[in-house]
Amino acid sequence: MKHIESDALVVRTIAYGEADIIATFITESSGKLSALIRGGRKSTRRVGGGLEPFHTMRLRLDDRGGELVTLKDARIVRVRAGVTASLATLEAAGTALRWLRHLVPPRHPEPAAWATTLGLLDALDGGSAEPRVDLAGAALRLLADVGYALDLARCVVCGKPCPDDKPAGVDAARGGLVCHACGGARQVLTPGVRRAALAAQRGERAAFTRDEAEQVLAMVAVAMAAHGGIAPK
Ligand SMILES: [Zn+2]
Repeated sequence: MKHIESDALVVRTIAYGEADIIATFITESSGKLSALIRGGRKSTRRVGGGLEPFHTMRLRLDDRGGELVTLKDARIVRVRAGVTASLATLEAAGTALRWLRHLVPPRHPEPAAWATTLGLLDALDGGSAEPRVDLAGAALRLLADVGYALDLARCVVCGKPCPDDKPAGVDAARGGLVCHACGGARQVLTPGVRRAALAAQRGERAAFTRDEAEQVLAMVAVAMAAHGGIAPK
């Protein structure tokens, strides 16, 4: 049996039977883990004041290698009540946790994706002025963090670099740009969006307008569907 102590985010809770719930966590040290919380439908107070998403929890778990681990205890170590202050921040945070749940494999830590998600949640908690812009930047980073970075510099078919000052077709399902000679793509990124997206991939602050952020999020939805099996929403 392995004893695990790690920071974690709750990414899903589902009812199980009359009284219990199954909670899925993304842990910093051990990736995705699910635990049966007995009596959890009545009260999750036993587990550190609740299983609210967006707050960082510190968990102690016993892992016997089965499908479910045993939750010994949990406490909240970082409250992010500000996330729920507006529908826009709440939705952005919910989307990010859904991505994280699909991108992080069971029992395999993804420290970069963990850090990117916490960074976004902190920004949303702090009253982000542009939640969709922050979400778009984090999304590009998140894909890169888990090895699915979109190639926004060269054609994914022929490998030719795309000139910095020209619009470029992008097919996120194929992993990035597709040049004219290789058939192009329906979605077209302006040079400005592409520059900002490349900067966001490197971890710089996203410098998208609202409209550009929506273009990026549409592209990301296709990439997430291709890689994480996440239905575009
Ligand atoms: Zn090409």
